[in-house]
Amino acid sequence: MQNRRMTRFPRYLLRQQVRRRPQGGAGVPSTSLHISSSARQVLFLSLFFPNQTTQQDLSSSCLSNYKDTMASSSSSFPLVGSLHALGQHVHVAEPERVEKVLTKLISGGADKLQLVVDFDNTLTRVHRDGQALDNSWGVMENSPLLPADYTGRCQALKNKYIPIEIDPHLSVEAKVPHIVEWYTKGNELLQSCKVNRNMFPDMVRASNVELREGTNGMLDKLQKASVPVLVLSAGLGDLLVEVLKQKKALSDNVKVVSNFMTFDDDGVVSGIDGEMIHTYNKNENAIHDSPYFKKIEHRHNIILLGDSEGDLHMADGVEAVEAILKVGFLNNNIEKKLGDYEKLFDVVLVDDQTMSVPSKLVDQILRDQMVANVAI
Ligand SMILES: [Mg+2]
Repeated sequence: MQNRRMTRFPRYLLRQQVRRRPQGGAGVPSTSLHISSSARQVLFLSLFFPNQTTQQDLSSSCLSNYKDTMASSSSSFPLVGSLHALGQHVHVAEPERVEKVLTKLISGGADKLQLVVDFDNTLTRVHRDGQALDNSWGVMENSPLLPADYTGRCQALKNKYIPIEIDPHLSVEAKVPHIVEWYTKGNELLQSCKVNRNMFPDMVRASNVELREGTNGMLDKLQKASVPVLVLSAGLGDLLVEVLKQKKALSDNVKVVSNFMTFDDDGVVSGIDGEMIHTYNKNENAIHDSPYFKKIEHRHNIILLGDSEGDLHMADGVEAVEAILKVGFLNNNIEKKLGDYEKLFDVVLVDDQTMSVPSKLVDQILRDQMVANVAI
């Protein structure tokens, strides 16, 4: 069987020159954003020149750079323009609407903000220099600690159930029992392989799993600002937590909701603990009865990070949402999927192996709260 770790990432993806979307269109009156143009200029400048947050502070060279950047961005949508300025891989199909969302997120500041984040291929990096990296499933399937036939038996389950999961003619209600059966059999497979909780640290250490570049920096800033981060995953919670621990990304503001396992007295997997988390219930409703939800229920502004259509509903269950920005990492089949992703996500990041764009958004929300109060 081919070792996935030896698989080269599709070269076309690395070579691909992604077309930059035309921005803007008819201008939106600045008054509709409730921010004066000078204030918006300061907000925009502060993204690129964090140490110079007023126009008076700007040197002539900074102004020159600013003019160049502004020339390539839409003056009608400066916040969207600031995202486009981070690279041609940033796609925003509806700049007018997204500009309003960004404005609300910034004006709401840290106190109203929460992040809802997928794990596999969203927090985790997909490839490095073309070499595929493990996500949480890959950590398990590529582990030398598991029997050689584990991956084949796991793949047989996928071959049976994935066609059901993606069948457009089946209702969600019809699919869910099959998905539950799939996950149950997957867990039974772990039991038959005598997977022990003590194996997880070595599995992660032996893998090549990485978090996206800049993830730790973004999480640090969110922790300092006491902004909660909910990591939602239909994967294996125990393994996710081990990855986050080893990558030093499990701070006290990070909550993981996933499929945690039960173990027998010898530490061997014996089942799934609590309600199973799968594609169709992977959202905030899963924690409605928890003390954690009580802590975040007043936070009505959301940044959602995901990489698949199933991630779009992760914020379902958040009450009285005031602003939500859905950021989608498009990792593969780019030419085929880009159009759909632009319709589904507010911001699409094409083959971006970093957390740069979400991190800049967080910077703006945390920092510009103060700037906006001064400038508006
Ligand atoms: Mg994912």
